Amino acid sequence: MTQGPYSQPSLQAMMEEVALQTYPAGTLYVVATPIGNIGDISLRALHVLAIADAIACEDTRNTAQLLTRYGLSKPLLAAHMHNEREAAEKLIARLQAGERIALVSDAGTPGVSDPGARIVDAVRAAGLRVMPLPGASAAVSALSASGLLHERFLFVGFLPAKAKQRETLLHSLRATAATLVFYEAPHRIVESVEALAATFESTRTVVFARELSKLFEELHRCPLAEASAWLTADPHRQKGEYVVLLEGAPEGGDADALEADRILSILLSECSVKQAATLAAQITGMKKNALYDRALQLGKQD
Ligand code: SAM
Repeated sequence: MTQGPYSQPSLQAMMEEVALQTYPAGTLYVVATPIGNIGDISLRALHVLAIADAIACEDTRNTAQLLTRYGLSKPLLAAHMHNEREAAEKLIARLQAGERIALVSDAGTPGVSDPGARIVDAVRAAGLRVMPLPGASAAVSALSASGLLHERFLFVGFLPAKAKQRETLLHSLRATAATLVFYEAPHRIVESVEALAATFESTRTVVFARELSKLFEELHRCPLAEASAWLTADPHRQKGEYVVLLEGAPEGGDADALEADRILSILLSECSVKQAATLAAQITGMKKNALYDRALQLGKQD
């Protein structure tokens, strides 16, 4: 390295220090990879990828490309959502034989809206060691730059594709005080934001975190009332990957009414309006007639 603030010897020394750390054999290393920018990977993650006996990955082509960028070449094992169980059995046998195996997804942290959780569960159940290698995740990156002040957040991830299921879930979140964190694909962003606008108070702040760490990165903050208009004002905004953050339930809002809505929404997905009102009255101690009227309104919104 000839230019820039870091000298080659100090980077080399850091890599050597990392290499001297302990990397137990017979361990599954859950390695976070970049969510867009090739530079967003830790030195320790790079070292683990370099020493692993094999890398289990969501898509072998994607991971092969990533490894090439880092000058690495490794045996790759497919571990995607359709073969997680069988993949886990093979990995367990190799780990029991003392191998070090890295688990990666296409982008970000495995197991976060990505395959990996089943494999980790099976490996742990087999009494084997699992070590996380911290790194990029779109949700945490979006939160860190959002400026939203709530200390708590609730990771919702992808909303269901079916409108009724999506609305039931969103209604169940109306009383949640924590910031809500959604993942969304470009072809569904407009529809999903319209569903948010139909469910939550229009004064809540929404943050769009688009294409984080990439060339067209954009962070936009506005009241929910303006969110759909912002999205549709420019066709580019309906492209790329999104994290959508929504401010939690307003303080001093009618918490009891919101909680009643949450309970009714869940019950309405399984029971009639009458049964939902009866059960909600037993759960909340609120008046059955009022709950019945509210259940009718919520039923109509679905
Ligand atoms: N495992 C990943 C993580 O740790 O964030 C998430 C994988 S999930 C299949 C992909 C979704 O994550 C995208 O649809 C988008 O909602 C979000 N995402 C991933 N990369 C992103 C980026 N660079 N900018 C904004 N959102 C991103």
